[in-house]
Amino acid sequence: MLGGMQDFELRVPRIIDHAERENGRREVVSYWADGTTTRTDWAGVARDARRLAQALEALGMKPGDRIATLAMNHSRHLVAWYGAIGMGGVIHTVNPRLFDEQLVYIANHAEDRVLLYDRAFQPIVDRLRGQWTTIEHYICFDPADGDAGFEDFIAAHDGDYRWVEGSERDPCMLCYTSGTTGNPKGVLYTHRSSMIHAMAEVSPSVFDLSVQTVALPIVPMFHAAAWGLPFAGAMAGAKFVYSAVNEAAVLCRLMNEEKVTHSAGVPTVWLAMFQHIDATGHRPEHLRLVTIGGSAAPRAMIERLMKMGIRVSHAWGMTETSPIGTMGAPPADWDGLSFDEQVDLVAKQGRVPFGVELRVVDDAGAEQPRDGQSSGRLQIRGPWVIRQYFQDSSGECIDAEGWFDTGDVAVIHPCGTMQITDRSKDVIKSGGEWISSVELENAAVGCPGVQEAAAIGVYHPKWDERPLLLVVRKEGADVTAEQVIHYLSDKVAKWWLPDEVLFVDGLPHTATGKLLKTALRAQYHDHKLPTV
Ligand code: ADP
Repeated sequence: MLGGMQDFELRVPRIIDHAERENGRREVVSYWADGTTTRTDWAGVARDARRLAQALEALGMKPGDRIATLAMNHSRHLVAWYGAIGMGGVIHTVNPRLFDEQLVYIANHAEDRVLLYDRAFQPIVDRLRGQWTTIEHYICFDPADGDAGFEDFIAAHDGDYRWVEGSERDPCMLCYTSGTTGNPKGVLYTHRSSMIHAMAEVSPSVFDLSVQTVALPIVPMFHAAAWGLPFAGAMAGAKFVYSAVNEAAVLCRLMNEEKVTHSAGVPTVWLAMFQHIDATGHRPEHLRLVTIGGSAAPRAMIERLMKMGIRVSHAWGMTETSPIGTMGAPPADWDGLSFDEQVDLVAKQGRVPFGVELRVVDDAGAEQPRDGQSSGRLQIRGPWVIRQYFQDSSGECIDAEGWFDTGDVAVIHPCGTMQITDRSKDVIKSGGEWISSVELENAAVGCPGVQEAAAIGVYHPKWDERPLLLVVRKEGADVTAEQVIHYLSDKVAKWWLPDEVLFVDGLPHTATGKLLKTALRAQYHDHKLPTV
């Protein structure tokens, strides 16, 4: 057949080339750990990325080599992503909040050759250097005055560089899941998967990014590929505001000074912002869209943000899904819904963008109807979903039709909205029926005086398991167990009500801010619930 279309490999450097050419003057602002602010733009990021690519090649780095970062959000970290990927390397974002053993395991498993790190993490570097067996070069992003660092490393290079070409199916990025169980596992993204994922993200029903966007992503660049924002934002030509410091006061000030319209982060970030607002009366004035994901966004949080006039998008995903799986966007009949119905909808995890497919199956693998009732294991497939973990000799982690089992328990509503009801290992199994620990927790944090709550299943002689609710009180609050139960009584089914409410000073979290349920289950394994 005569005729046809052009083709090019979907490689990530095309994104930064586009940003430089079409939106070169859109700024990338960085607030640093020492309290200073620097400003560059997409043209500057592109130029420095080419200089970094040259510098890495001068060190002997080859395509496919892993270049690691241990860093917060700032423009040099962004340069590192594009520079390492541009020379054909694989950027490996290491999460500095992991435990030492995990940090040692991950860098050795990844066989990282270079580590670019923030001075704030110098103690980690000093402590673990001897155990990291493959890292040959250490470069500090923000060295102390007089010490050599990142800028010196790229200084000798002129940026006259052509990105390494290759297949769109070459790897470009490596992220480890934080491993709430067992060793962390590596997810190896390809240029193509990152590119297609980013293209989907720009859409109004996902991150709604454009050249008018001023984004302050609070989600760290070391967590789940920073939700793909460094790629999608560059595609859209958004202005970026990065903060290496995650304090609500700093974030709020930056949001107002730079007129930030879009932000994204896990729920705990917004809890901290509310505390700041309550304490100071200052609030982000220009925010239009806040994306919450990584754990379920509590209803009370969504309601409060919406009452501030901010659209809330609730995202679900995982490192294995690049990470966006679903996103809540206003449906066609949004304006016809009451405020409560709108909040109810946002509290669910949203719908899939074009590119990925979802289904829910029962334990026997039979697909469940999309009736909003039938819960089961959530499975996902598509070109930005994992096929096999990095260097995992046990083979592919998908079934014959490409479905990846997420380990989450969910229902799908007739409108296509997915609702996570639990992680499969966290559901509380009471008398053969399932109680959602997530729903209990989210309801509990709406109770006045409750700062945070965790629900776990504890052994019960008759029901097998019954819920124990662990509660952290807000500072100065004196809420009682009876008040919590009373508050919950019209929010969840009666048989879901916790058998006991215990007040604790704090709850353990994973490196990505999620409740560490494994630790809680171990701690309360032999706990005896009161007999009624
Ligand atoms: P980790 O934090 O362990 O590295 P991920 O960031 O990949 O791993 O976490 C993915 C998991 O987080 C999902 O499988 C799901 O259980 C949970 N999760 C993510 N977003 C949501 C959400 N909006 N609601 C409920 N759970 C969520």
